[in-house]
Amino acid sequence: MRIAVLALQGAFIEHRRMLSALGADSFEVRQAADWNQPKDGLIIPGGESTTQLKLLHELCLLHPIQEAIRGGLPVFGTCAGLILLGKQVDGKPYTGISTMDIAVRRNAYGRQLGSFYTEAPFDGIEEEVPMTFIRAPYIEALTSADCQALVTVGGHIVAARQGRQLVTAFHPELNEDTRIHQYFLNMVV
Ligand code: GLN
Repeated sequence: MRIAVLALQGAFIEHRRMLSALGADSFEVRQAADWNQPKDGLIIPGGESTTQLKLLHELCLLHPIQEAIRGGLPVFGTCAGLILLGKQVDGKPYTGISTMDIAVRRNAYGRQLGSFYTEAPFDGIEEEVPMTFIRAPYIEALTSADCQALVTVGGHIVAARQGRQLVTAFHPELNEDTRIHQYFLNMVV
């Protein structure tokens, strides 16, 4: 199994560390030539969605990635990655990768409570999992019945799945717990 990790900006090294702890191969996608390598899944890391989107355009990576996800390539987006996969952001239609039927609120926790840690149950994983939020978005609404909420914190959806697309508003790669990455790898096989 070989997972592509988008490495334009943000916390991509931490995702590769998690994959390697689980025995999965990974490689960094920095340009179109990298993207052409064989792959079984894609991780879009946290960071800054505006910067990542600008680079995806400039490097001509946006459309190939969009097409691959539409064609069924499993994808896992964390935080900024969740935003990039949304079809709606801050109450408006969004033209990022936008393959997932979710309405996203960016920087949803404001500046005061910008970053926090909690533990909560994750649908499909037996015990609570650690969750680190950093200037995080949340999902205001699932806009199709294909979409399923996996984690709710404080009344807001912070993880969801639609077919082979998985998103978390928090950063599972920043804790030692590998179960959410394992959950994604189970979606890949
Ligand atoms: N606030 C960032 C954005 O809007 C996301 C933060 C993160 O990925 N940790 O892109």
